[in-house]
Amino acid sequence: MILLGPPGAGKGTQADRLVADYNIAKLSTGDMLRAAVAAGTPIGLKAKAVMDRGELVSDDIMVGIISDRVDEQDCSNGFILDGFPRTIAQADALTGLLKEKNLELDAVIEIRVDDSILLDRIEKRASESAEVRKDDNADVLKNRLVVYHEQTAPLIDYYSARDMLRTVDGMQEIDAVGKAIDEILS
Ligand code: AMP
Repeated sequence: MILLGPPGAGKGTQADRLVADYNIAKLSTGDMLRAAVAAGTPIGLKAKAVMDRGELVSDDIMVGIISDRVDEQDCSNGFILDGFPRTIAQADALTGLLKEKNLELDAVIEIRVDDSILLDRIEKRASESAEVRKDDNADVLKNRLVVYHEQTAPLIDYYSARDMLRTVDGMQEIDAVGKAIDEILS
C-alpha cells in the first residue's frame, strides 16, 4: 500500500503502527536516504544537498532504490510505501515495476492535512528533536510544501482516476487517523 500526504502529515507514525499490526515492511524513502547520507554512500553524497534544500532526489535514483528494496525477504508479506512515489514519473515507474514483479497495489491512502497545521507540527518536531533534522527548518519546510503541491499532489488525481484513492482526515488525533485507515483496509 501507499501512504500519500504532505511532509508532517503523520505518514511515518501511521506506517509504524501498520507494520506491527499487519506484519508488513515499511519502506520509507526519506529514512533510506538519510541512512545513505549518514553512511556516506555515493547516493547519499548526491542526495544530501538536494534534501537540505527540501527538493526531490532524481526519479531514477528513487525508482532504483525501491525496485531493489521490494525484492528483499521482509517485503514478501507486503509493504507500505512511505514517501514514495512523489512524482507522476515515480508512480508510472512503480506501476511498471509492480507488474513486472507480479505484485498488486491494495490501497492508496491519502492523509490530508492543511498547510497551516503542517507548519506548526514540523516546527514542533524540529524544536523537540535532540538531533534536529536539517531539512526541518521553517524555510526548508515552506519549500517542501511548495514541492509537495507542485510535484506530489498531482498523484491524488492520478490514483483517484484509477479508482484507488481513499482519503482520511489527518487533522484528527493519531488514534482516530489510525482507526480511519483500519476501516479502509478492512
Ligand atoms: P521524507 O522523510 O519522506 O520527508 O523525505 C525527506 C527528503 O528526502 C525529501 O524532502 C526529499 O528530498 C527526499 N526524498 C524522500 N523520498 C523521496 C522520493 N520518493 N523522491 C524524491 N526525493 C525523496
